[in-house]
Amino acid sequence: MKDLYKTSIQYLTGVGQSRAALFSKELNIHTLHDLLYYFPYKHIDRSRLYHINEIDGNMPYIQLKGRILSYETIGTGRKMRLVGHFSDGTGFIDLVWFQFGNYIQKKYKFNTDYIVFGKPTVFNGRINLAHPDIDEADDLTLSEIGLRPYYNTTERMKRANLNSNTIQKLIGNLFASLDGSVPETLPEAFIRQNHLIPLDKALHDIHFPKNPEELRQAEYRLKFEELFYIQLNLLRYSHARKKYSKGLRFPIVGQLFHDFYSQKLPFPLTEAQKRVIREMRADMNSGRQMNRLLQGDVGSGKTLVAMLTMLIAISNGYQACIMAPTEILAEQHFATISSMLRGLPVSVALLTGSIRGKKREPVLDGLLKGTVNILIATHAVLEDTVSFHALGLVVVDEQHRFGVAQRAKLWNKNEYLPHVLVMTATPIPRTLAMTLYGDLDVSVIDELPPGRKPVRTEHRYDRDKTPLFQFIRMQINEGRQAYIVYPLIKESEKIDLKNLEEGYKIIREVFPEFNISIVHGQMKPADKEREMQRFVTGETQIMVATTVIEVGVNVPNASVMIIENAERFGLSQLHQLRGRVGRGADQSYCILVTSFKLTDESRKRIEIMTRTNDGFEIAEADLKLRGPGDLEGTQQSGIAFDLHIANLARDGQLLGHVRTLAEQVLNDDPDESRPENAVFWQQLRRLKKENVNWSAIS
Ligand code: ADP
Ligand code: MG
Repeated sequence: MKDLYKTSIQYLTGVGQSRAALFSKELNIHTLHDLLYYFPYKHIDRSRLYHINEIDGNMPYIQLKGRILSYETIGTGRKMRLVGHFSDGTGFIDLVWFQFGNYIQKKYKFNTDYIVFGKPTVFNGRINLAHPDIDEADDLTLSEIGLRPYYNTTERMKRANLNSNTIQKLIGNLFASLDGSVPETLPEAFIRQNHLIPLDKALHDIHFPKNPEELRQAEYRLKFEELFYIQLNLLRYSHARKKYSKGLRFPIVGQLFHDFYSQKLPFPLTEAQKRVIREMRADMNSGRQMNRLLQGDVGSGKTLVAMLTMLIAISNGYQACIMAPTEILAEQHFATISSMLRGLPVSVALLTGSIRGKKREPVLDGLLKGTVNILIATHAVLEDTVSFHALGLVVVDEQHRFGVAQRAKLWNKNEYLPHVLVMTATPIPRTLAMTLYGDLDVSVIDELPPGRKPVRTEHRYDRDKTPLFQFIRMQINEGRQAYIVYPLIKESEKIDLKNLEEGYKIIREVFPEFNISIVHGQMKPADKEREMQRFVTGETQIMVATTVIEVGVNVPNASVMIIENAERFGLSQLHQLRGRVGRGADQSYCILVTSFKLTDESRKRIEIMTRTNDGFEIAEADLKLRGPGDLEGTQQSGIAFDLHIANLARDGQLLGHVRTLAEQVLNDDPDESRPENAVFWQQLRRLKKENVNWSAIS
């Protein structure tokens, strides 16, 4: 039997060297195995024949059986086309070729029954089928055609006559050469228990299903397997970690925590905050490394929770580090945390890219000697020159901005693994969390501090801004502050900056009586900081900004968030921005300003935003609207792109199901020694070799 993984498609009948090169360049298909797993993107039911007299121009696809009566060449030059007049005895239609050679008339003869298939359109009152698929009726019975698969190909491939049809034929050749034997990738008993069909049948039927039921079963088996192995891989890591890796043990809560709690805490913790702290306290005293994802909507008080956890680490003799995705956020954390801890014997230091030279040395020194207890840092902490005396806890804020590899780099600064807390305000839908962070434990702060009023969100068109300006003025006169945000999208930073600057000019003209801050990504960090600071202290009443303020900025007095060109923002971004207001006790407002023309998708986004404040609901909606490939967080792991057939947005339920099964397998066979399970581990090893992204997420 040939090794599917090793045999190049070059040796497949009908491929050869140049087509093999195209496959590899255009579709990343190199081996027979790759081709076998190149699944159709859709199937069209071709088991049904239509009669010409029932056809209208609105049908998506039709299939007819009949004969070509005559050919005619119509038009001249680039408009020249070949028309084949076709009849099935109930009427006439035209088969049309816009680019054609002599071969068509030679190939498709009169007095022969053909099955033609295509999308009907009406032209000059006649029904046309442009570039139809044509098969000789004698060659196939309709039930043999069944559902016809459609494969994506590229322009280059089409030019080399490698279209969907050709691919299907090549896959047909592949099956003919396989003599039906594709090695099974799941244990027999497991297949039976889960009512799956065998792999070779599934692979055959996904390419050549005879009917929708066959297709469904094939898809189910393949999705099932795909998701199952992802989960098995992730859970295997967490099992191994729980079994082998020794975590630092933090036996005491310590005086710092108690002192802070009784003397400094300005408000009672919410029940959710208390619960999460208890969960982490237990983790850090379990003897295993903590690996926890903390999800909490914007404003739910994650920073405070992180800080209390860091105090525990310090009392147990270790240092703690919190990593923020931007300098602004690091600086803000530094300011908040230093001021909250004032009067307690804790030394807090800041390390960012702009802290250099003379200012950097004492920080590095303090980290190495252990005199710095808490480090607040950006990516700067990843540099090789940064070393800790005893790093016991790492908090990663707003996780999705950090690549997995970067996190790993931080862990490697130690001989032992520090405890890890990953915090994110981008609520990740459950299905996605299970795939991306399947090996992390998850805590959720599902409660906002008391007294917060939900932000009121409204949609306005940008035609007449007078009422909007009036509203801003009223709010500011009542003592509040306002954000006005403009989109910043990388591809056109210059245009965006112009938008922002024009907006700033208008705002200055409209509000001569107020002070205004402006912040955008192209400013020097020091200028940015100064402008931010002016807004934080209340010296300015309006902040005009790009999305640099998206993450983490905390000004409880701000009660208005105006988002210009809101149609250009994604849902999670809109939600993040909205989270900048509603942080104090006052009623806050988020106003989404858009142009009059909106695509269906932007309209849906706006509708969702005005309907709900629930981050999880928004994240689910985002996943459905955009698909997982576009979601923040998935880009880094890349896992969504490795999926051949499963879809995280649609197959959430199946994902949950196979996760339970994977858990069972690991619990029943912790040593991976049962002979009947050997197939699992063998397949897992193979998959890890094949999929680069798999190693990145674990
Ligand atoms: P996020 O979860 O978005 O990081 P923060 O930690 O920035 O939220 O907290 C938002 C605001 O809520 C801060 O001003 C913080 O001091 C305040 N806060 C946190 N916990 C509580 C609480 N239990 N009661 C009242 N206010 C709180
Ligand atoms: Mg935060």
